[in-house]
Amino acid sequence: MDPRAAADIDLGTAELLALYRTTGPLTRAEVSERTGWARMTVNSRLDRLVDLGLLEPHGQTTAARGRPATRFRFHAGRGALLVADIGASGMRLALCDLGGAVRRRVDVPVDIAAGPDAVLGEVERHFDQMVAAEGVAGAVWGVGASLPGPVEYATGTIVEPPIMTGWNGTRVPDRFGPRYGVPVVVENDVNAMARGEQATCYPDVADLLFVKTGTGVGAGVIANGAVLRGAQGAAGDIGHTWADAGEAGPRPLCRCGKQGCVESYASGWAIVRDLVAAGRSVTSVDQVVELVLNGDPVATSLVRDAGRVIGASLAHVVSLLNPSVIVVGGQLAAADEHLLAGIRERIYARSLPLATRELQITRSRLDGDAGVLGLARGVADTVLSPAVLTGRAAS
Ligand SMILES: [Zn+2]
Repeated sequence: MDPRAAADIDLGTAELLALYRTTGPLTRAEVSERTGWARMTVNSRLDRLVDLGLLEPHGQTTAARGRPATRFRFHAGRGALLVADIGASGMRLALCDLGGAVRRRVDVPVDIAAGPDAVLGEVERHFDQMVAAEGVAGAVWGVGASLPGPVEYATGTIVEPPIMTGWNGTRVPDRFGPRYGVPVVVENDVNAMARGEQATCYPDVADLLFVKTGTGVGAGVIANGAVLRGAQGAAGDIGHTWADAGEAGPRPLCRCGKQGCVESYASGWAIVRDLVAAGRSVTSVDQVVELVLNGDPVATSLVRDAGRVIGASLAHVVSLLNPSVIVVGGQLAAADEHLLAGIRERIYARSLPLATRELQITRSRLDGDAGVLGLARGVADTVLSPAVLTGRAAS
């Protein structure tokens, strides 16, 4: 069945699906209790979702008296989502179910500066392979992509990215939309990671900051339970703010063209630059981490200093937004305590005590999956939203 066959259900039925997605298994009587709907209304809406394959029976209650009742749950296996977490030098692609669980993933090296045709063409090639391998042709419900630059969320357009040569003005949905005939969600990479980490590891935390420390440095903000994107999709871009590096003299040139940004001191590329100047033969962030884990004193000191520069920048963010959790991810986070120690030192020294009293500063627990998990969540929320399911949304 065409997934878009679902796009003619009524609003109440779409709301029932939303209830099942957030609560887990429920009997008909429990639905009636929670919604206040008449038994007949519950039955007709629930039966419609069962017919569409969006709900499935899931065990029975063990009633003390009377007949046991069947529980139903959201059937996440009903469709597939394709998501691509695209970084500057590598991307992780995944095929997920409608519940956002990863069924297949692949890591592919990429050069973002090769431009949209080359990069998105490579994404499509791997998407097609995953669809064939999982046998889900015709069952793809939505596509998501995240990119390392500002994204105008409503249209999926890349807006003046500092490092993505040739991408300015690219509307990513124009590429994937016609090919798959489904809604396309495009997000900034760190926003997707913030959402993935929050939804998976901190579902009860409404205010969370995700800091990506890889080739570049950026932050994604979850405020009051939602991704904070800002007017142009550039919220959280701490990498290109003025670094508090505590030294006189010339400030290093950043890859955005300005001088003295946080990135120009504390990013993976800046540490590689400084290590090369110190006589080490490194070319990648992974090699930097390897040196730190092997106890190289110069690499360790540089990573700790990077943590301090990032922490000084985050201290402002902590005072402004008062998050409960700061999650540090990205390749450089593998240097673990050496990076986190510098970050903690500056945040605790420079933020108000009230803002740090219960603040957790911790490493990402998702091992590189934060981006694809966040994208899958975002795409599922879109394609299963009442607006799309009732056919009221364009696309
Ligand atoms: Zn910069």
